[in-house]
Amino acid sequence: MIPMKEVTFMEMKKIGIMGGTFNPIHNGHLVIAESAREQFGLQKVWFLPSGRPPHKRETMPASRRCEMVSLAIADNPFFILDRRETESPEISYTYATLEAYKKEDPSTDLYFILGADSLFDFESWRKPEAILQHCSILAAFRRHGRQEEFFQQIDALNQKYPGKFFPLDTPSLEVSSQDIRSRVRHGRSIRYLVPREVGAYIQAHHLYEGGALGDEPSGN
Ligand code: ATP
Repeated sequence: MIPMKEVTFMEMKKIGIMGGTFNPIHNGHLVIAESAREQFGLQKVWFLPSGRPPHKRETMPASRRCEMVSLAIADNPFFILDRRETESPEISYTYATLEAYKKEDPSTDLYFILGADSLFDFESWRKPEAILQHCSILAAFRRHGRQEEFFQQIDALNQKYPGKFFPLDTPSLEVSSQDIRSRVRHGRSIRYLVPREVGAYIQAHHLYEGGALGDEPSGN
């Protein structure tokens, strides 16, 4: 008979979760998700667009954001869109979504992928301890911060929550959704910053041209 521990080990799946507002999705999101998949041997990465983000007041309708995610990940067989937070009428908190994942499949090792700005905010998220009960955090440096501060923050969080935070080795793309929205509003090119299909979708549906729907972050 195969010992129990070995069975569990063999069946353990490593799944990445790339949470975000994705208003819109851009190449910065895609490159950190792909780096995480490769570096940590993840079987799949679920893209999890937020429903009503607790920290961003006005956002493009979820259906539009999901369609853009869907177009962006279509050519990567490891990437999957998970619409669950957008289908919930309630505000979705990360800890609750992770609890649900674990309940559905306890044999999954979860890795939540985020950028440096989210790493610095992490402790202000609802129930950070509960989040860390269910996943490890893979963090990508973003250029608008200082690299040594980024690593110091990883160390500080690992002191508090041992072995839970890992830096991602990833090319750093200086692009943000806010930058994309602003470029579109000013009639500037977003080519090579978003996948071609996403650029075409934004153009076809005249998204972000008026400047509303997404430029007013309001804090947590
Ligand atoms: P906005 O500009 O509207 O604030 P954003 O570009 O930060 O949006 P989100 O959808 O809010 O995009 O981000 C989802 C996650 O991806 C966050 O953890 C964020 O830190 C990370 N992220 C976004 N862009 C990058 C990037 N260029 N490099 C590394 N991480 C990124």
